Amino acid sequence: MFADIIVDIKHEKLDKIFQYRIPERLEQELNVGMEVIIPFGKGNRQTKGYVTGISGTCNYDLSKVKEILDISRNSVEIEAKLIALAAWMKEHYGGTMIQALKTVLPIKQKENAKVKKYVRLLLDKETGERQLHYYLEKNQKARARLLAALLDDTVIEYELVTKKLNITLSVVRALEEQGVAVLESEQVYRNPVKSKKREERRIAFTEEQDIAIESFWKDYSRDIRGTYLVHGVTGSGKTEVYIEMIRRVVGQGKQAIVLIPEIALTYQTVMRFYRCFGDRVSIMNSRLSAGERYDQMIRAKDGGVDVMIGPRSALFTPFPNLGLIVIDEEHEATYKSEQVPRYHARETAQARAEMENASVILGSATPSLEAMYRARNGGYRLLELKNRSRMQEMAQVYTVDLRQELKDGNRSILSRKLQELLADRLEKKEQAMLFLNRRGYAGFISCRECGHVLKCPHCDVSLSYHRNGKMVCHYCGYEEPKVQRCPECGSKYIGEFRAGTQQIEEIVKQQFPRARILRMDMDTTREKDGHEKILSAFANEEADILVGTQMIVKGHDFPNVTLVGVLAADMSLYSDDYRSGERTFQLLTQAVGRAGRGRKKGEAVIQTYSPEHYSIVSAANQDYAAFYEEEIQYRKLMGYPPVENLMAVLISCENEALLETGCRYLKEFAQRISPKETMQVIGPASPGIGKINDVYRKVIYLKDENYDTLIKVKNGLEQYIEVNSGFRKMRVQFDFNPMNIF
Ligand code: ADP
Ligand code: ZN
Ligand code: ZN
Repeated sequence: MFADIIVDIKHEKLDKIFQYRIPERLEQELNVGMEVIIPFGKGNRQTKGYVTGISGTCNYDLSKVKEILDISRNSVEIEAKLIALAAWMKEHYGGTMIQALKTVLPIKQKENAKVKKYVRLLLDKETGERQLHYYLEKNQKARARLLAALLDDTVIEYELVTKKLNITLSVVRALEEQGVAVLESEQVYRNPVKSKKREERRIAFTEEQDIAIESFWKDYSRDIRGTYLVHGVTGSGKTEVYIEMIRRVVGQGKQAIVLIPEIALTYQTVMRFYRCFGDRVSIMNSRLSAGERYDQMIRAKDGGVDVMIGPRSALFTPFPNLGLIVIDEEHEATYKSEQVPRYHARETAQARAEMENASVILGSATPSLEAMYRARNGGYRLLELKNRSRMQEMAQVYTVDLRQELKDGNRSILSRKLQELLADRLEKKEQAMLFLNRRGYAGFISCRECGHVLKCPHCDVSLSYHRNGKMVCHYCGYEEPKVQRCPECGSKYIGEFRAGTQQIEEIVKQQFPRARILRMDMDTTREKDGHEKILSAFANEEADILVGTQMIVKGHDFPNVTLVGVLAADMSLYSDDYRSGERTFQLLTQAVGRAGRGRKKGEAVIQTYSPEHYSIVSAANQDYAAFYEEEIQYRKLMGYPPVENLMAVLISCENEALLETGCRYLKEFAQRISPKETMQVIGPASPGIGKINDVYRKVIYLKDENYDTLIKVKNGLEQYIEVNSGFRKMRVQFDFNPMNIF
């Protein structure tokens, strides 16, 4: 027998299948998906590889085929069906097969099982009493103590025996030898969900919820599978809808995966699922220990859980009979991987669902243009929830023109309207949130006289002040002392231009000295659970105002928040990227949606320099349809995704001249193999960050209506790079429909 093996070596050149002979002693045991140890290369160096297939015939010269040395005993097996998914990912997103295999196997190492030990009495009451008598007569106090305890409770945890009864292992062994008791052990799974009782709580669904659930179920129960987009405003009861759909699918003996952005994976959310599914639900996230993560995977594989909740990588949970994948907040950028293969969870979930006969539910209050485009133009089924489930009104929104504020002499970062409403809330003892959307904006140091900006000599990004008093580069860590004068013109008006959360906190403190303020940003959430601590303090009303970055607008429900202020809506609007309008709309809608989630009506203030921009107008009106119409027109006009598909080819190299030559060749080759009528080849361009750690970067964009055409060109380019040794010193990566322009 022979095995097809993907060798675990980084080199792109070796990204193909090698055949190895299976030694007889391993024939019974060896499975597709196992990691094996093999001799590789001229020196027969021991290397690892994954088995992707087993066959009875050899396609190579038999005398040259080497033999597998062993199965690597400590590694986790890849499910055969996930190997097929890995192959799909490699094809659709680029990279090597080994990179794809490692992606579908988020947990690679076996962890020691955690066992619980018990001492169990083997004798009946009467014989036990007699034996106890014997021990007492012989003055064997420890044995007597243990036996007496066992006569009360026939099974006792070993830990209690040693710690509470103060009895050593040798005493237990002695009782074992005499046939009095036995030491037993049982494997227990580390369970990250600290359990509470399951609650039999049935809510009466609203009519909209009912329609959504039944339309899905009508298909599902007739074996029709598909992808559904649940578009529902915040608080419309989407989560309740997912839970009901999952409940029905699980009722058919199938399992479900629920993807949630890690940041929204809070105790609150998990508990809602827990109340319905008890310990048949589990979570995966980066805060779990290796042992906990491993156990969750085993529980999923062995049918110990029905529902797995987690961030992007939970998509690869090895369920035996997957029935449904739910992706909540599907528009979130975190669903796209930043590592090769740069996959998107939305499309990969669809691919997995198709392979395993499952359905996909996407949910959002502000669906991505991709999802809505597919819902409008065939492909997805649209399920809408237009009203909040408890009929709360949406917040009243005020848009404030900051240019006008300045004209009227208000130089504060807080507009007059926002100041007035803040004072009112403090008076009424209601809470407020102040939100700074800092995406695409970093504090930089510049000269107010000549405009010179200080940059990192290695990375071409601007430096910023650090608390240690130095100027630092956030990409490579380079630092230098603060300058007192502009290196260009000598002016002393040089300094930092930023509106950070800390400054805002200080300004608010000055203006409202009695307000209790919490701040949430990268600095205050660095410690473990820092994020959760701040949110729960705010939820417990230990503060009046929460100041923060986009972290604060996701997920949480704060019933006492009746005011949300967006301090500078433009910060996310002018990043150099075709998705910035969409991102701004999403952030603003989410922010506004935070106000008035309880019984009291909410208000929101959006401060901006561009009050006429459609992203801001439609967010202020909570009008997704209007936003979508404008935005899709723009994407059509420019040929951007989702109307057309975009493939970024990222090329990096330490040698700038070589990089330029390489780009020229790549571009020419791409033009030669791409269909001229439809495909556009753009660039090469220097990305926003032209150099990281002394490595230069360039990017070439290819645009075509048809994704498969882009895949063909990618495959062609990969081959071209492989056979031309000139590319050895370069790194080439692909990114399909990137979330950011580089
Ligand atoms: P979304 O996920 O769309 O933001 P949720 O499912 O979190 O909405 O619902 C918001 C709140 O309304 C939750 O507290 C939820 O328990 C409650 N809720 C949802 N649907 C109903 C319903 N049909 N009846 C009563 N309460 C509901
Ligand atoms: Zn200057
Ligand atoms: Zn740098």
